[in-house]
Amino acid sequence: MTSKVIQSVRGMHGLVPGIAAQYSEIQKKAVGVIQSYAYDEIQLPLLEYTDLFARGVGESTDIVEKEMYSLDDRDGVSLSLRPEGTAGCVRALEENGLLYNQTQKIFYTGPMFRYEKPQKGRYRQFNQIGVESYGFKGPDIDLELLLMMRDILSELDISSEVSLEINNLGSVESRHAYRLALIEYLEPLRSKLDEDSQRRLSSNPLRILDSKNAQTQDLLLNAPRLDDYSDDDSRDSFAELCALLDGQGQNYVINPFLVRGLDYYTDCVFEWKAKGIGAQNTICAGGRYDGLVGKLGGRETPAIGFAIGLERLVLAVEQTQDQLPVIGSADVYVCMLGESLLSRAIELGAQIRQRKADLKVRVHMGGGNLKKQFKKADTSGAKWALLIGEEEIEKNMVSLKDLRDSTTGQTMLSLEEAIQKIVVNKS
Ligand code: ATP
Ligand code: MG
Repeated sequence: MTSKVIQSVRGMHGLVPGIAAQYSEIQKKAVGVIQSYAYDEIQLPLLEYTDLFARGVGESTDIVEKEMYSLDDRDGVSLSLRPEGTAGCVRALEENGLLYNQTQKIFYTGPMFRYEKPQKGRYRQFNQIGVESYGFKGPDIDLELLLMMRDILSELDISSEVSLEINNLGSVESRHAYRLALIEYLEPLRSKLDEDSQRRLSSNPLRILDSKNAQTQDLLLNAPRLDDYSDDDSRDSFAELCALLDGQGQNYVINPFLVRGLDYYTDCVFEWKAKGIGAQNTICAGGRYDGLVGKLGGRETPAIGFAIGLERLVLAVEQTQDQLPVIGSADVYVCMLGESLLSRAIELGAQIRQRKADLKVRVHMGGGNLKKQFKKADTSGAKWALLIGEEEIEKNMVSLKDLRDSTTGQTMLSLEEAIQKIVVNKS
């Protein structure tokens, strides 16, 4: 009897070899840009007290209402897999006294978990690259974060595929006044709203602005405008940000319907959207959240951040490039004529690695004739096969074969010369 193959949890797929390398490469480039702005890495736990997200993200948000993976610890305390990184960042900095009389510029990477309907660009486990800064009022820092994302897009060669939308949510107080006005406008239209929006009318009416339902969108055309309720400070700062963006030649569209799913946002919010990757096209989203640190028990601290959805970023990169070859990562594959040379082959592999020439070396395992070994060498991705037989051992040499150029044969060289040749060809 064969047992049933166990499948991955719905919406949590992981990455197979080759694809994983492609993700790492893209993440590395993005992180490189972030570090070039002198932002420091923070590492956060995957599990936090559920209460942190309830208070931080907001009780009436989709995330807390229906998307969290929560479990009771053995002592009955409710924990949740992190659905986002910002609340955890604030918790960690506050707990370590790192927000007291100082500013912080930090970033994190890693998986987030949300119980959502899986589809292209939307998964239950997905990866974010998040950037946060604390202690700066803006709009200088707001500009810096937007330019940082611009640099990331440019580093990945996808600037022309991605556009920026911004909006001003105003202060907590002005948003509250707007909220009441919006409810007053929408309440008589309740029955015409889509189901989600009807529910949100009592819990989180601003989220209705974000509805993708065409009839709801029509009804919103005459709704009161957020901007009309915004306070002067917030409006001035937003106008200044727009002027700074103009000065930097960064295009943007002001989208008055842009609101963010998390409760903590205030003032300027933004989304970067990519063409051609389907309905889930926001690859990066963020904004100012001056109220959060206070809400989590700390001293009021201005803050702003964004998170990139790595899976969507990869989709955007993929569609602009030819299919990336999914091959192994080896540079050099060591073959041996006869299993008696295994120890020597292993030593050879070690010698090459010790040179620290940044070469990835795979030594053949599993025996077999040379034809079989070359076949394995080919699928390993290596450009070079290094071969040893009795003759090579006798002369203290190695034979080098270019696996990607069938017009050349094998040449016998000293190990040093072989490494030289491999390194020169690699760069
Ligand atoms: P959406 O409206 O697409 O659900 P969101 O407002 O919930 O996004 P944020 O919480 O701001 O998203 O997360 C920032 C970014 O993380 C998003 O812009 C997106 O790129 C990515 N992201 C969010 N949820 C998912 C998911 N379930 N699967 C893949 N990526 C996601
Ligand atoms: Mg969401």
